[in-house]
Amino acid sequence: MFFEILIGGIIFISILIVCMLLTALVTAVLILIFIKTNHAIFPRIVLFLANILESPIRQILLVFHVEGNILDDTITELRNRLYHTKFIKTPYNQRALFLPQCLRHQDCPATLNEEGLQCKNCGRCCIQEIKKCAEGLGYRVFIAPGSTIVYRMVKKYKPKAVVGVGCSMEIREGTEKLAAWGMPVYGFKLLNDGCVGTSLDINALKLKLKENNI
Ligand code: SF4
Repeated sequence: MFFEILIGGIIFISILIVCMLLTALVTAVLILIFIKTNHAIFPRIVLFLANILESPIRQILLVFHVEGNILDDTITELRNRLYHTKFIKTPYNQRALFLPQCLRHQDCPATLNEEGLQCKNCGRCCIQEIKKCAEGLGYRVFIAPGSTIVYRMVKKYKPKAVVGVGCSMEIREGTEKLAAWGMPVYGFKLLNDGCVGTSLDINALKLKLKENNI
């Protein structure tokens, strides 16, 4: 009796592992198709599975030389695609933009308060120009020293859509959390990672901020 239960348990776990690996394989293939063709198939399901089966999916994708931040960026891009329609239908004045503090100049005179860094518009970094463009459209703009302020400001001001700028890991985690709150999000990646001296494609960000279909 004991051995029958044991063998039944082993068979059950084996089937479970095979199903999990097959699911990871199919998800990895769908991710590869998106990377190669820019065609998103079942993005909502792929995002869900990529979260719960990330480790085996990463291992499978390594075989196809998809490594490093590529999976994080692909997940962010899939999420951007998923929320694009809702995002562009949100009026500018109901959107928020979160910029990372690593964009600022090393001699930045901005001060910090509970809503993040308060830019003095000194012109030493690109934040002034981006802020002017975004606020001119109606966005609420925040310069966040960390993700805690992002979530606190979202809870406080309740924007209907969010653009988050950051490195691969930051925007993946941030957009994942905000999307779980039901918020249309757009993750915009910096050109280089780091705690200081980062940069971004200003024109591409401005174009994204201006997107609308109201
Ligand atoms: S423009 Fe704003 S954020 Fe940039 S260095 Fe000047 S005060 Fe700091």
